[in-house]
Parts: sequence; C-alpha cells; structure tokens
Amino acid sequence: MIKRLRKLGESPRPIDRLIAVVMGAALDDRLKVFSDRQIGQLLFDFCWPDLYVDGPELIIVTQAIDRLRRSTGGPVTKGETQDDLKQQPVCPKCGNEMFLHYGIDEADFWLCDFVRCGHKRYVGGSCARGKS
Ligand SMILES: [Zn+2]
Repeated sequence: MIKRLRKLGESPRPIDRLIAVVMGAALDDRLKVFSDRQIGQLLFDFCWPDLYVDGPELIIVTQAIDRLRRSTGGPVTKGETQDDLKQQPVCPKCGNEMFLHYGIDEADFWLCDFVRCGHKRYVGGSCARGKS
C-alpha cells in the first residue's frame, strides 16, 4: 500500500493524485491501530533508507526508531484524538488552527498553522511575537 501510494503521489495525472489522497486517509486509519513498535518498524523500513547519511534527519529518526521499538504504547485511542481537538485553540490573529509544539530549549507552545501569520502562544499563557 505504501509503495503504491508513493507511485500515485509522484504521478503527474491529477486523478492519480486524488486517489493518493484517498489512499493516504486509509493508510492513516490503518496506522492508528498499530502499536508504537510497529510504527517504529515502518519508520525503519520506509523513511530511514531515504535520509541522507550523516544528516541531522537521520540522527533524529534513528533516535525515534530506537525509542518506539522499546515502547509498549498501543494504538492512539479516539479519546486521545478528541482531547487534542478540544484543547486546540484558534489563532486570535487570523482565525486558523493552532498546533501544539513541544519546546526544544524553550517552553511548549501553540503555533498558528498559517505560516505567514506565525502567531505563537506559550502553553499556559504568555504570547510570543509572530513572524510578521
Ligand atoms: Zn494566525
């Protein structure tokens, strides 16, 4: 299924790309019931080989694979997905969705999905300046 999706996604024909979108949703549904270890295996089989040797992406994905392979986490439950959506704020600047980012060297924050807006709000309060 993943190999077929790749081919369809690379096709110049609009109908193939449309089929790829539908198949992508089906793949997402299938992955939801996989364990963390199975997701780690897919990362290793399908994503890891495409990364540049010595690139930071390879180092990060290798770390993720190692962690997922030791994880006992199971499928993402419906409740977890709905809790995420309930908490998801709307950008006060432009009205787009905001997504939670786990801070690296800073606190966790919500970031507006609209790249040109870039509104950022730290979890639990203070606003950070947007990109504009
Ligand atoms: Zn915004």
